[in-house]
Amino acid sequence: MLPAARAEIVVDLAAIRHNVRVLREVAGVPVMTVVKADGYGHGMVPVARAAREAGAEWLGVATLDEALELRASGDTGRILCWLYVPGEEYDAGVAAGLDLTAYTPAELDEIEESVGDTGRTALVQLKIDTGLSRGGASPASWPALVERAREGERAGHWKVTGIWSHFSSSDEPDDPANDAQEASFRWALTVAEAAGLRPEVRHLANSAATLLRPSSRFDLVRCGIASYGLDPAPGETSGVDLWPAMTARASLALVKDVEPGDAVSYGRTWIAETPTTIGLVPVGYGDGVPRRSGNHAEVLVGDRRRPVRGRVCMDQLLVDLEGEEHRPGEDVELFGDGHDGGPTAQDWAEASDTISYEIVTRIGSGRMPRRYV
Ligand code: PLP
Repeated sequence: MLPAARAEIVVDLAAIRHNVRVLREVAGVPVMTVVKADGYGHGMVPVARAAREAGAEWLGVATLDEALELRASGDTGRILCWLYVPGEEYDAGVAAGLDLTAYTPAELDEIEESVGDTGRTALVQLKIDTGLSRGGASPASWPALVERAREGERAGHWKVTGIWSHFSSSDEPDDPANDAQEASFRWALTVAEAAGLRPEVRHLANSAATLLRPSSRFDLVRCGIASYGLDPAPGETSGVDLWPAMTARASLALVKDVEPGDAVSYGRTWIAETPTTIGLVPVGYGDGVPRRSGNHAEVLVGDRRRPVRGRVCMDQLLVDLEGEEHRPGEDVELFGDGHDGGPTAQDWAEASDTISYEIVTRIGSGRMPRRYV
């Protein structure tokens, strides 16, 4: 079927439901579907609904705004968020019954104020930084955070519902950093338990760890990329049947012949050596297509993969139709589930020196309209 628009993103919600079910089965513990960044470009609210239908017990997002948008969409389940700036308005988060992550005693002070304002008990999760050096209390500051959390819990300000951390290298399962992080997390749990905290969920695993490191599954796994059907650790076989949910496609805008010696696109980085039929695909880096993919990526036209020639422009890119007859209006698939022989988001990642996360998040949240099937 031809796309109705110049270009579009098609998101298969049945694939999301399938992936969430598979992840719950493999993990054997409750699943948090991570839907931040507009559901990795797939659309936060539709993905969240599909994940809930498939049994996701939790949703995970980075920002408070994202969590509030999920509540506004009618989601009444457990939602964790984890990224704030000082002075951010916690009241709405407390009032909405969100699970709020704290990294520092200062954040707990702010949450305490919101509890006073809203008259509600907050739900708080504590994060320990076990080696990513991103958010979370350092091991040195962990005992003080635990102490402050315990004090606020006793005073009835909040309930500590979770303790968690995040891996730096779970897509490389043989990296000893994974063992060190898991050991550090276990130490943090011991400290918390000794202080009297009894959190409902302890969680560490993202998609790659869920599939490749069973010891890290604890009470809950946080799955982002695998929920979208993309392999979190390419090259490491998990044997799990995931279905890529996103297809990016466009209509061929123009077909033209160029002569030997003609240069294609900005900077003249590709020069035709023989008479060549070029197809103009009306998407570019303004739609989130990586400029770096020029001269490296392929697209599917008809039933054949065709190479991208020259640099990707803001609104267009050019493909080599390799002498075959094609007409404007024909369907071009940039990437999909790979079953039709076309490229996948992972192929685009490799052609662009990045990861599939960035491909779907940028293209999915760009200028191309999304359609759900
Ligand atoms: N947990 C946290 C804190 C994250 O930031 C992310 C995403 O980056 C995830 C879980 C999900 O990771 P993945 O997409 O690798 O499953």
